Amino acid sequence: FFNEKSAKIYVAGHRGLVGSAIQRKLLSLGFHNLVLRTHDELDLTRQSDVESFFRSELPSYVILCAAKVGGIHANSTYPADFIAVNLQIQTNVIDAAYRCGSTKKLIFLGSSCIYPKHAPQPIPESALLTSPLEPTNEWYAIAKISGIKMCQAYKIQYGWDVISAMPTNLYGPFDNFHPQNSHVLPGLMRRFHEAKISDAKEVVVWGSGSPLREFLHVDDLADAVLFLLGNYDGLEHVNVGSGKEVTIKELAEMIKEVVGFQGKLIWDPTKPDGTPRKLMDNSKLAKLGWEAKISLRDGLVGTYKWYLENAVNQQ
Ligand code: GDP
Repeated sequence: FFNEKSAKIYVAGHRGLVGSAIQRKLLSLGFHNLVLRTHDELDLTRQSDVESFFRSELPSYVILCAAKVGGIHANSTYPADFIAVNLQIQTNVIDAAYRCGSTKKLIFLGSSCIYPKHAPQPIPESALLTSPLEPTNEWYAIAKISGIKMCQAYKIQYGWDVISAMPTNLYGPFDNFHPQNSHVLPGLMRRFHEAKISDAKEVVVWGSGSPLREFLHVDDLADAVLFLLGNYDGLEHVNVGSGKEVTIKELAEMIKEVVGFQGKLIWDPTKPDGTPRKLMDNSKLAKLGWEAKISLRDGLVGTYKWYLENAVNQQ
């Protein structure tokens, strides 16, 4: 794969957090034959449109990171969208990529929410489908689990080279910095920034600060995705994480320092903590020879710079 700089590569979802990072990584490595379509140009929920796109473009590699994503609030408000849209996108893309005959390899991107609510920590790949899911995002999770199983089925039935990767909590450029609807890292970055600008004395952080979370910079994920395309052809999905945990308190202190907010942190115990710990077992990917390179601090500095240059006026 790494020697095929002219290979035609379709990145589905190239404008999102993950797809944009993969596009940057591919271009930086000298891959120059990328096929990209915006949502307006190609609606991936339309099967016949997806089929004709594949028949005319005939890509050699497909990186499937198009999905309908959102936080806990969006998931519980739009369960039908989360299950239907994601099933449609992945079924259409995986099937059309196989049937057009040109696709040598496809990688499907999922999420750590595929794992049971009470999975052992750190969570190994083998925890999949061993007990019930977290109910708030089961619609999205069921679609992603179906995607993994679909990849396995196409590999078993057709001998097609199709793999899937499950990233931990991601952050970086093109993240969603919405103050209420975002995940903790971009949400706090924005709140600390706005507090700094307005000379506020304090910033409220949700929960107790004690939950543990693992964060991976999206540029590290992009690196891992290409590594897997070049080095992995197994049947089982592969976890992609940094292997490093921080408490929400440590994270909040670090963001406060990176942003340069001088005031105080106030904890709001009436807001939910969520699951106490969420860490992926990375040993499978480590054995294959990959590890994350961007430290949380460096990643926060870069993300804050990106936010200032690109997203500071976002609503
Ligand atoms: P989770 O990893 O699925 O629980 O998703 P989140 O990223 O939304 O939340 C992670 C943890 O950060 C939880 O314990 C939240 O209570 C805590 N947290 C603290 N402040 C915030 C905030 O401003 N936004 C969010 N989303 N979470 C926060």
